[in-house]
Amino acid sequence: MPTDTARITALDTYDVRFPTSRSLDGSDAMNPDPDYSAAYLVLRTDAGDGLEGHGFTFTIGRGNDVQVAAIEALRGHVVGRSVSDLCADPGSLNRDLIGDSQLRWLGPEKGVMHMAIGAVVNAVWDLAAKRAGRPLWRLLAEAEPQWLVSQVDFRYLTDALTPDEALTLLERARDGRAERAGTLLARGYPAYTTSPGWLGYSDEKLTRLAKEALADGFTQIKLKVGADLSDDLRRCRAARAAIGPDVRMAIDANQRWDVADAIAWTNALAEFDPYWIEEPTSPDDILGHAAVRTAVAPVKVATGEHVQNRIVFKQLLQAGAIDVLQLDATRVGGVNENLAILLLAAKFGVPVCPHAGGVGLCELAQHLSMFDFIALSGTTQDRVLEYVDHLHEHFVTPTVVRDGHYRAPTTPGFSAQMHPESIAAYVYPGGTFWSTELEEQS
Ligand SMILES: [Mg+2]
Repeated sequence: MPTDTARITALDTYDVRFPTSRSLDGSDAMNPDPDYSAAYLVLRTDAGDGLEGHGFTFTIGRGNDVQVAAIEALRGHVVGRSVSDLCADPGSLNRDLIGDSQLRWLGPEKGVMHMAIGAVVNAVWDLAAKRAGRPLWRLLAEAEPQWLVSQVDFRYLTDALTPDEALTLLERARDGRAERAGTLLARGYPAYTTSPGWLGYSDEKLTRLAKEALADGFTQIKLKVGADLSDDLRRCRAARAAIGPDVRMAIDANQRWDVADAIAWTNALAEFDPYWIEEPTSPDDILGHAAVRTAVAPVKVATGEHVQNRIVFKQLLQAGAIDVLQLDATRVGGVNENLAILLLAAKFGVPVCPHAGGVGLCELAQHLSMFDFIALSGTTQDRVLEYVDHLHEHFVTPTVVRDGHYRAPTTPGFSAQMHPESIAAYVYPGGTFWSTELEEQS
C-alpha cells in the first residue's frame, strides 16, 4: 500500500487578493473598503494519487501578507508527517499547532496565529475528505460519535460541556440521520442573503436587490447599519417596503457601537421589525451583549464572525448573551474547534447561523451547517446560512444556491480549492491582475 508511507512534502502559500473595494461590495459601517482576500495554502504529498489539501483564511486586504507569514510559521509541524495518520486524526495536528509554546505566546488561541492554525487544519480536513471520497459534511455526518468527540479539544470547556455530554448529544442525533441526509440532498440547506444590504449601495440598488432576493426564494435578507441613524431609518424603510411584512430582515452593525448606543439605535429601528441585530458591539464584550439582549428583546442578538475561540463562545452562551450563534469557518482553529462550538450551541439550545460571504466562506461553512443538521442539532428550524453572491467563480466547486437553499455539495473535499488561473491572476503583488494595476499606478 504505497499511500501508507506517504508524507506531506510541501506547504505552499499564496497571498490572494480581490479588488472588491472598487464596487463597494462588502462595505459596512466598520469596513468601508474591503479587498476580499485569502491567505491560502496547499498541502502536497508524495502519495501519487494527485490529491492535495487546500485551505485558507479570509482577510480583507492589507495584512493578508502577515496572515500568510503566520501560516508559514507552522510549516515545520506539517511537512514530513504521515498523510494517513494525519487524515485519520486531524485533531492530533490541531493539538500540536495550538500547543507550540513559543507561537502560543502570540495568542493564546486568538488572532492571526489562531487563524493560521485554522487554515492549516482545514487544509488537512480537505485532504482527508478527498481521500475518503466524500464531501466533508458527509464524512463528518457519517463518522462515529466517539471519534468526533476525540477530535474536540475540551480544555477550558468542561465547566459547560464534558466529553460525555458531547457524546450524548451526538448519540441522540443518530436516529434519523439517513432520513435527514435524504432531505438535505433533495431540498438543500436554508440560506439568507446579505447581497442587497451593503452600506455603500444606493437606495435604488438596495430596493432592486431586495426584490430580486425574494424572487430568488430567500426568506431572509440582511442590511448593514450603524454609520448614520437617519440613513438607516431610510434604508430599513425602503427594504421593508420592498420585501413586505413577512420576510425576515436582519441588521448588522459590525461592532460599531458602545453598549448604550447599540440599545438606543436598535430600538430606534424596531419599527421595521428586525429579526436580529448582529455584532452590536465588540465581539469580546460578553456582558455587553447580555445587556443589549435584555434591552432590545424581542429583537434577537447575534454574533460570532469575530469571536476568537470556543472559550468566548462558551461564555456568551453561559451568560445568556446571544440568541443566534454565528460561527465562522476560518476565524477559529479549523473544523476541530468548530465541532466544539457546534456542540456547545447544541448543549445550550442556541441555533447556529454561520457567518459566510467573503472569499470562500460560503464554500466552507455549508459543510458545517449540513453536518449539524444531519448529525447534531437534527433541525433547520430558525437556522439559516449566510449567502453572498461574490467570488464563487474562483472556486473549483463553487456553492450552488437555488430557491433560497444551498445545494449539498457532492464532490469529495471541503470545497476549498481555487482555480489555479484565479491564483495566478490575483496573487499579490505579482499576479497578472495586480502587476498590471501597480504598473499603471506608478
Ligand atoms: Mg456580519
